[in-house]
Amino acid sequence: MHCPFCRHPDSRVVDSREYDDGAAIRRRRSCPECGRRFTTVETPALAVVKRSGATEPFSRAKVVAGVRKACSGRPVSEDALAVLAQQVEEAVRASGCAEVPAHEVGLAILAPLRDLDEVAYMRFASVYRSFSSLADFEGEIAELRAHQTSAASSAALACAAEVEPSHVLKFAGTHDPAPPPVHATTAAP
Ligand SMILES: [Zn+2]
Repeated sequence: MHCPFCRHPDSRVVDSREYDDGAAIRRRRSCPECGRRFTTVETPALAVVKRSGATEPFSRAKVVAGVRKACSGRPVSEDALAVLAQQVEEAVRASGCAEVPAHEVGLAILAPLRDLDEVAYMRFASVYRSFSSLADFEGEIAELRAHQTSAASSAALACAAEVEPSHVLKFAGTHDPAPPPVHATTAAP
């Protein structure tokens, strides 16, 4: 492996150790030319099996590109997309398989995208799940609402638990039972 500092074509491994419970190997390397040290992390190559049967390396950039399309005009930053792609990779790697069907990569995108932006989620889900009728959208929206309500009520419970019993009624009275999602409404391109 070449040196990332001086591009010398060779480097020497000075230390190797397991990392992330054996899911990866970290190697400390030293450059014989400039003497600087750097670390590499070795993980099993993760391949995505396409519907055609062809395989290609898993790529966070491809995940981002696919999700970015669904996020067009939405207030979703590039940083948020990068975090999502990382979450997707972690979820896919957690299966422990060296090869995953492209379908599963799509599945792994759905949950973090739903938390990121509901409109983008609906767009992505409608394509990914091949919605063919308004009923498909209605069903998905109903599920989204159910998810929001359960998230909101568990948040309210968590808050209520920290409030003195005598304040609970006042607290409950000032809160709308279904608060709107806390997304900014204006997009900064
Ligand atoms: Zn060097």
